[in-house]
Amino acid sequence: MINNIQIPDRLVVTIDGPAGAGKSTLAKLLAKKIDALFLDTGAMYRCVTAKALAVGIDVKKDESAVVKIAEAIDIGFEAVEGGQSVFVDGADYTKVIREPRVNDNVSHVAAIREVREKMTRLQREIGLEGRVVVEGRDTGSVVFPGADYKFFLTANADVRAGRRVLEYEAGGGKVGLKEVSDNIMERDRLDSSRKVAPLVKPDGAFEIDASNLTIDEVLTKMVNKLSC
Ligand code: C5P
Repeated sequence: MINNIQIPDRLVVTIDGPAGAGKSTLAKLLAKKIDALFLDTGAMYRCVTAKALAVGIDVKKDESAVVKIAEAIDIGFEAVEGGQSVFVDGADYTKVIREPRVNDNVSHVAAIREVREKMTRLQREIGLEGRVVVEGRDTGSVVFPGADYKFFLTANADVRAGRRVLEYEAGGGKVGLKEVSDNIMERDRLDSSRKVAPLVKPDGAFEIDASNLTIDEVLTKMVNKLSC
């Protein structure tokens, strides 16, 4: 129940947008608010990338080896206080998938058609479970084109890079603004220009520019949309 409106048991909400716009934070908060599952699809592409790198695959050159990893991979999520842990074939990958070398390689892995097909299949299976808030790049356009509510979250590049730096620092890490900014720009370029399921504003999506909004303000806009 939000704003006195009953939320149905089966509901798919998608949040797409470029890197660092705040999708994960908002998706988590919205999921909590409507008692839904939170699905971080970017984490899934990160898992395939991290596993491939861990076994020594050059993901920019050896596509077929990456596809084999994606076909065999077992990805698990577990809710923990303040977030979720991510497991790959039983091992805790929560921290590994956020490492710089994963940032640098993930968009190459995510451009491989067979990898996307496998991840899309898994995401749709999870989406059948009930209420879900799913975030990524193609969740409203390809994975769940018939989603009940679609959001497209953007923010200007400086704001996005600055927020990512703060996130790293909050997690005890240290990273330079230029390094983060370069990675974000390059991933956006690759994600927007790839042939398969590029980053686009999905048909029917409600766009929110979060450059000058607080998290609470964006959440309020989303909740208002769901309750009207
Ligand atoms: O959301 P996050 O920054 O963790 O995503 C990491 C990468 O995964 C993106 O830059 C993109 O290459 C890929 N991705 C994707 N499709 C999604 C989610 C993420 O291609 N639905």
